[in-house]
Amino acid sequence: MSQPKMEIRIIPVTPLQQNTSLIWNTETKEGVFVDPGGETARLMAAAEQFGVKIVKIWLTHGHLDHAGAAAEIRELTGAPIEGPHKDDQWLLDEIEAQGAKYGITDGRNVTPDRYLEEGDTLTLGDMTFGVTHCPGHTPGHVVIYNLEGKLAFVGDVLFRGSIGRTDFPKGNHQQLLDAIVRNLWPLGNDMRFVPGHGPMSTFGQERQDNPFVADGVLQAGA
Ligand SMILES: [Zn+2]
Ligand SMILES: [Zn+2]
Repeated sequence: MSQPKMEIRIIPVTPLQQNTSLIWNTETKEGVFVDPGGETARLMAAAEQFGVKIVKIWLTHGHLDHAGAAAEIRELTGAPIEGPHKDDQWLLDEIEAQGAKYGITDGRNVTPDRYLEEGDTLTLGDMTFGVTHCPGHTPGHVVIYNLEGKLAFVGDVLFRGSIGRTDFPKGNHQQLLDAIVRNLWPLGNDMRFVPGHGPMSTFGQERQDNPFVADGVLQAGA
């Protein structure tokens, strides 16, 4: 095995403090924004600070605080937008209409260059990322993960000590629980994850003490 060559910085954006991730390959200096939700100038300044050329934009789901800056960054960089699943296009079409509710005025509606499906792979140079479809918070939510680097971008599926809201239109609580257990836990307890909001954690930690999806909690409810 070669040395790890993935670097990451997390940049909270928008009034909702959504965690945009800037990840890059330290050898090629090519990078990706995962969930660029807003504040394009700040995100581009971060990429410039680390000398990173943005070559891809990845979206976990269609909510405005995750996808609002994607269209503008695509225009600035020429990088294609990959994800989410096509079942979230209706949300990507609503970004501008929803913005006023959340105090996000710079969001733009967007159509990705590529929709993602269960089992797809994404690449950044010679690094490969897996894709798993995890509906429940939104119908087209995907989780993007790198097995070698043991790092997952879970959007609003899972948080440190919580799970995504399912009280939005097309939300489904049971579907979300099923997706977490069926699609995320098999990736390994030592898998670290960047959630859409708040601090990082690991799947193993959440399986121990998350009040919604810990093993003990789910067994007690089964
Ligand atoms: Zn969301
Ligand atoms: Zn969010």
